[in-house]
Amino acid sequence: MTDTMPPDLLEHALAAKGFMPPDEGELLHRVARERLPHGPALEVGTYCGKSAIYLGAAARQVNAAGGSAVVFTVDHHRGSEENQAGWEHHDPTVVDPEVGMMDTLPTFRRTIAAAGLEDQVVAVVGRSTTVAAHWRTPLSLLFIDGGHGEQPARDDFRGWAHWVMPGGLFAIHDVFPDPADGGRPPYEQIYLPALESGAYEEVDALGSMRVLRRVSGTAGDPLGG
Ligand code: SAH
Ligand code: MG
Repeated sequence: MTDTMPPDLLEHALAAKGFMPPDEGELLHRVARERLPHGPALEVGTYCGKSAIYLGAAARQVNAAGGSAVVFTVDHHRGSEENQAGWEHHDPTVVDPEVGMMDTLPTFRRTIAAAGLEDQVVAVVGRSTTVAAHWRTPLSLLFIDGGHGEQPARDDFRGWAHWVMPGGLFAIHDVFPDPADGGRPPYEQIYLPALESGAYEEVDALGSMRVLRRVSGTAGDPLGG
């Protein structure tokens, strides 16, 4: 078994609309490949499915070897603050003119269908806090790449970080320890609290991606310390 992206899916990932650099996507794929045999993975922040292809590729490989891997990906598909009209990361082609709001769900659906990953990647459409409040399943891998404001980042940490199983991995995107490189909330509201809780230790870092391993506690119980 190789642990790099299968060439056909790498092509889809590179072509997909979104915000996942190829090297960080490969890292995401590697951690998903390690973890998916042990339980479902969950991503917060689907957008148009770019990172979901890296995760789904790992699921396809695990399932080809007899596994039953699945990746859930949560998004209300209305965009983050920085995706709205007038902001830096706005794309007018993902606006639904009828409702006058962003809607990345159709693009996501086309992207995942074209990649052939509809069986592996399951979209959960809704607010992260709402889905988290009703979530009950331990995760082999959690990937947070959702809203980058202070409150959304804090909510994502509180809602999801405790669902990682012991030995499981927690990947966080857009972590910028140096404020000159980017916004602070994923660093201050997710990355640091995860380490300070004592439940996580850092195992990998690449670009703005950080990968932590759960070293103590029980999935679903509040994070200690
Ligand atoms: N992982 C994607 C990029 C995600 S961009 C990629 O690889 O390209 C961040 C996404 O988080 C946006 O699509 C936005 O709609 C979503 N988001 C922001 N805040 C959210 C919230 N509170 N609940 C659900 N989704 C949210
Ligand atoms: Mg990101």
